[in-house]
Amino acid sequence: MNQLSNRRSDRIVLEMPIRISGAFSATRDFTFRTRTMLISRYGARILLDHEHVPLSTVCVSSMQSETEKETEARIVGFMGDCPDGPTYGIELLDKEEKFWGIGFPRRDESARAVARVLLQCSKCKSLELTCLDKVEAGIYQVQERMDHHCKNCQQIVEWTRALLQQWPVTSAMLVPKGAQCEIAKGSKKDCLTACIRSTAFGDDLAGVNQLVEAGFYFRSELLYKKDDRVEVALPYYVDSGNVFVMATIVENLGRTAFTGHLYRAKYLMPSAS
Ligand SMILES: [Zn+2]
Repeated sequence: MNQLSNRRSDRIVLEMPIRISGAFSATRDFTFRTRTMLISRYGARILLDHEHVPLSTVCVSSMQSETEKETEARIVGFMGDCPDGPTYGIELLDKEEKFWGIGFPRRDESARAVARVLLQCSKCKSLELTCLDKVEAGIYQVQERMDHHCKNCQQIVEWTRALLQQWPVTSAMLVPKGAQCEIAKGSKKDCLTACIRSTAFGDDLAGVNQLVEAGFYFRSELLYKKDDRVEVALPYYVDSGNVFVMATIVENLGRTAFTGHLYRAKYLMPSAS
């Protein structure tokens, strides 16, 4: 296991263009243009199509806006191959800086959340990973917007779902295979769609019909086992930055009158690191 997955902090699936630069040796520098595949508060999983990346401190430049930002990061290791190439984990060294331009929740806010969304301030356009409790998730499900305080604007403003048009996104990683037909099969009783990600089945789009304290009920055609570890994005949208967190299957309540088995799942609390 690598450090990023051990940390279990909230992670957003987002492709952001970046540049990595550093030195192979005293006489050989390197610069690669690449992109993130997902980001967390202090790190990211990035595509790095190069065989001999030194596991060292590098300079990361964010190229998402006209004013380029730079910060130092450590390459923490290989994180596996994806269809677009090898991926590596990086850890940002400056824990004070908001390098990604996204506000992340405090650990206690994340611990009591039943849903997580990437929201954008309607006035200043800043982005925030927002944790929703059961009541807030119910309101958001109906309105897909929320009113809350913006630190930049220093007032209560309307926040809406952040759409991905602002980043140069490739489609491959946004829509899992079979995703659209799974959504179509969803029951009218489902309140939200979740993406259940597991090593056994990959990405599974499931209908969520009830949010409960620290967890939720979902329906799926797939056969999960009790105590299976999964990653969950709830709610899941094809056109937004989805937030994945760790969860576990608590029980299988059997086949439903609609599609698939009904499961109860609970979120796993972030570790202290
Ligand atoms: Zn604002």
